[in-house]
Amino acid sequence: MADRDTAEGVLGLVQAFVNTVDLQDGPEELTDPNTLKAWLVAHDLIDAGAAVDESDLKHARALREAIRGVIGANTGGTVYPVDVATLNEAASASRLRARFGQDGKARLEPDADGAVGAMGRLVAAVFAGMAEPDWTRLKLCGSSTCRWAFYDRSRNHSSRWCTMASCGNREKARRFRQHTRHRA
Ligand SMILES: [Zn+2]
Repeated sequence: MADRDTAEGVLGLVQAFVNTVDLQDGPEELTDPNTLKAWLVAHDLIDAGAAVDESDLKHARALREAIRGVIGANTGGTVYPVDVATLNEAASASRLRARFGQDGKARLEPDADGAVGAMGRLVAAVFAGMAEPDWTRLKLCGSSTCRWAFYDRSRNHSSRWCTMASCGNREKARRFRQHTRHRA
């Protein structure tokens, strides 16, 4: 996975969250409330003393897949109403509001604390990320079994696979097999 490119800043945070699971080969990083909390603490999204339970884990995984869904729109994917609803619910539950920092710049911050607030911070990262010109470089791998979030650094934004070595070649081989079967 070393050659899978990573974004920086809010885009990097969004990408890291979506990639807490490798849908194709595993592992799942968010296996229980403790691993979720450790991830949120490591990314400065929650206080170390906050409680995280099973329902928070369920919400976090749902939010993760909803974010994956909207990133998919950058590669021509359909945005499903369930994903939109999940994002809106996380935004409402965390009570996101505009807040001006000491630097004079506005950002969205949650009024809620704990895991609900942390989910709000992730939604705020998506919000801020979408305002960046490089948002469309954040893509999902074109392999339907992979759907890894990768950052397309190519000059003409043309990358389709998380890595050509794994998914690109596997997909080509699959098409080649279909092609030869149809001709037989
Ligand atoms: Zn892939």
